[in-house]
Amino acid sequence: MEKIKMTTPLVEMDGDEMTRILWQYIKDELLLPYIDLNTEYYDLGLEKRNETNDQVTVDSAMATKKYGVAVKCATITPNAARVKEYNLKEMWKSPNGTIRAILDGTVFRAPIVVKGIEPCVKNWKKPITIARHAYGDVYKGSEMKIPGPGKVELVYTDENGNETRELVHNFTSAGIVQGMHNINKSIESFARSCFNYALDTKQDLWFATKDTISKKYDHTFKDIFQEIYDAEYAKKFEAAGIEYFYTLIDDAVARVMKSEGGYIWACKNYDGDVMSDMISSAFGSLAMMTSVLVSPDGYYEYEAAHGTVQRHYYKHLAGEETSTNSVATIFAWTGALRKRGELDGNKELMAFADKLEKATLDTIESGKMTKDLALITTLKDVTVLNSLDFIRAIRQTMEAM
Ligand code: NAP
Ligand code: MG
Repeated sequence: MEKIKMTTPLVEMDGDEMTRILWQYIKDELLLPYIDLNTEYYDLGLEKRNETNDQVTVDSAMATKKYGVAVKCATITPNAARVKEYNLKEMWKSPNGTIRAILDGTVFRAPIVVKGIEPCVKNWKKPITIARHAYGDVYKGSEMKIPGPGKVELVYTDENGNETRELVHNFTSAGIVQGMHNINKSIESFARSCFNYALDTKQDLWFATKDTISKKYDHTFKDIFQEIYDAEYAKKFEAAGIEYFYTLIDDAVARVMKSEGGYIWACKNYDGDVMSDMISSAFGSLAMMTSVLVSPDGYYEYEAAHGTVQRHYYKHLAGEETSTNSVATIFAWTGALRKRGELDGNKELMAFADKLEKATLDTIESGKMTKDLALITTLKDVTVLNSLDFIRAIRQTMEAM
């Protein structure tokens, strides 16, 4: 059989620990036998980041801007323990943060739905994709403890020194206060990323804030989304047969619980932080969650939502057998390959991505899975496979298709 050709390189960002091992298995067993894989390779493994003073991370993000699509392996975000473990020159920043700062994107996280792994919420039939605004609000807030009676005000001083004041509170006793901000430009990018991704995936887009209470702050989010929707996206949404729907955050939460899924839920920074953990745990497992960074300019970076699975890696190093779930990493590859195919008009590559995803899900549905899934599945008579055998089982399913 002739291998599938690729015209434009895909940016490949390799990573750390157990996911780096899975990365190689996936390439060897599921990709290289079928595709003339054309990637521009960047090693974001911690050793290489340290060696290049993290320049390799910046280079990989710039390459993503150049080619449009990247696939990323999970990477270590160093903390004090890692600085020691890897003898680092510095506590390098999170690669995801660095890449996101360069691409200015929004992260969309979606569960991979498969028969046998049932969501806690019975009526959820299709994935719910969370889009979290990744800038500002309480994450860039400043706070004070107020020791006793006194006045707290917000003061804006413009470039000419003119002041505008707004009373926060006249304290008569001790208390606390918080100031936070956002930037219209960032909200606009967030809105465009969400509208583009909804069109891309042909799903409705929901957005919710607390604009009835926060008449300036949250209301600005609502207004910006609506203005951009009306001016740039309303016609495209109509043509695609999808809907943009705004409601209050409490109403949204109630509707989400009653829904059957199948839409994108755009969240402000804090709401997204909280709700994405609820959605992923209610759908089953972090190992069954994909994540894609979509920039407002139309660049895409696909990855798994979980980390480098450090505990499994140490077992692997000790020569013990591991049963690490590679599904989210496989879907990062298929997402990226499909998008590359779409941009290049490469139907074969798109069809391959569909086929590999189906083979992965069929393998699980036939009862072959990794240990984490075996613990939560409703299927009977399951076979627990080790990390490599699970990937080989997917290859067998694909060969049989
Ligand atoms: P983690 O790698 O997601 O793993 C946490 C635990 O979840 C694992 O110990 C394992 O549980 C389970 N798990 C996660 N993914 C799994 C999979 N594919 N198959 C089976 N089980 C899985 O999170 P962490 O241990 O907190 O972080 C490890 C490293 O990853 C850190 O250095 C962190 O900086 C990095 N990280 C990177 C990213 C990213 O690059 N996007 C995201 C998060 C964390 P059991 O051990 O009980 O089996
Ligand atoms: Mg969180």
